[in-house]
Formats: sequence, C-alpha cells, structure tokens
Amino acid sequence: MHEKVLILSKKNFQDRHLICNVLNEKGAKKTILFYGGQGGGKNHKPSNVQLGNVLNVLMKSSKKSSMISSKEWKVHWSHQNIDKNYKSFFALSFFCELVDHVSLEDLLDDKEIGDFYSLLANSIFYLDSEIEHQVVDFYKLVSLFLAKLIFYLGIYPDFENCLNCSGPLSKGGAFKLLEGGFECSNCNSLKIRWEYDFFFKALTTKFKDYRDFVELEQKQVKQIFTYFVQQFQIAKDQIKSSEFIFSG
Ligand SMILES: [Zn+2]
Repeated sequence: MHEKVLILSKKNFQDRHLICNVLNEKGAKKTILFYGGQGGGKNHKPSNVQLGNVLNVLMKSSKKSSMISSKEWKVHWSHQNIDKNYKSFFALSFFCELVDHVSLEDLLDDKEIGDFYSLLANSIFYLDSEIEHQVVDFYKLVSLFLAKLIFYLGIYPDFENCLNCSGPLSKGGAFKLLEGGFECSNCNSLKIRWEYDFFFKALTTKFKDYRDFVELEQKQVKQIFTYFVQQFQIAKDQIKSSEFIFSG
C-alpha cells in the first residue's frame, strides 16, 4: 500500500538503512525501516529521506514486528532552502521533534488530531519559502506554530473568562503561566500584557499571513514554550532542539 508521509525523525540503521518516525496525513505516527534509505551504494545516490520531506512510500507490514518496512518510495515534496541556513534547520528540527513527541500511533478519532499534519506541513512550507526570499521572521513563525500546536492539543488557555472570578476578559488580562489562564483587571492589578493578544490572534492568523502576527522577543517565545511543557507535563530537556532555538 502506498502512503504519503512526512519524516519526523531518522536514525541510521546498519550500513545503509534508516529507521524513521513519520506522520501520515491523518496525523498518525508510524515507524518505517527504509532499506537503503541512507543513499550511497554503487552510484553514490544521495539520500532523499530527509527531515521534513514528504514521501510517497510503498509500505510493507511485518507479522513479526509492528515496524513497517519499505524498499520503494518517491519524493512528493522536499524543502529546497532550509538546509542552507542553520537557524531554519533548527526551526525545522524543533517543529518535527515536537510533533514527534506529541503524536500517537493509534488514533481513536482521526478528526481530533488530524490537523497535526497540516500544521507541520504548513510550517515547513512557509519556513522554506521565506528562507528562499531571505525574509524569514523565525520567532513569529515558531511562536505561531507553538500556539496552534497548543490549541490542537487542547491545552489552550481560556481567554474569555477570568481564572479567579469567571468574569469576562473583554479587555485582556494578566497571564498566569502556571494556572494556564488569565486574570481580569479587578482581580489582578498587573498591566495587560502581550500574552492575551498572542493567544487571541494565534487562532485566526493563517500561516500565509504570519507576518501580521504579534511581534515577540526570544524570551517571550520561550515563555510560550514553558507554558507548553508545563501544560503538557514534559521535561524541557526532552525536546533537544529547543536548546538551539532558545540559546543565543
Ligand atoms: Zn477576575
């Protein structure tokens, strides 16, 4: 059976093969052994099994193991510019690693989680095309990706009602990172900050319009990441590529 999949991670296996986690269009994660996936051989063929690429794969399942294997695949879409810029490669790794971490192999309900594929494919597509024109705004793209991921995971903060008194948050509110919500101006004298705008706008901003999204500094994007790891209950250092995104 042929299936379109996006490469989330890859590990060398023996001399020439690769073991990859991939995401299919329904948003389910699978592990595939690509025979000869490292390229090379007599003709020194370069590998087209690369992080972020979309492949059309002829899959073969095995009775002995849950792993799928493939000897035949074609590139459906591949990024052209991301490898030329180290920052964009870090962003690609970050997108793929996060989705690899939060996606599941068995889906109870396809609809509930299907948007992970389009979220990831869109993020990579715009990253690649913006690099080509040398105009990419990394933190806007990374923060929009994070916000949408948080939304799909069902851990989005409530920006309609105050955490404390349940009153309306019509003019924004003070963000409480640990509690995962906002407090209104009656309950909290802190000035209205950027987080309200951020979460409010992220739902309606499309990737193609990502430049109109809220302008954030690195430390603010890091706060959104902290919110994500706390709400999703994972250790920060489990997401290795975050080190590159938030350092320097
Ligand atoms: Zn209140």
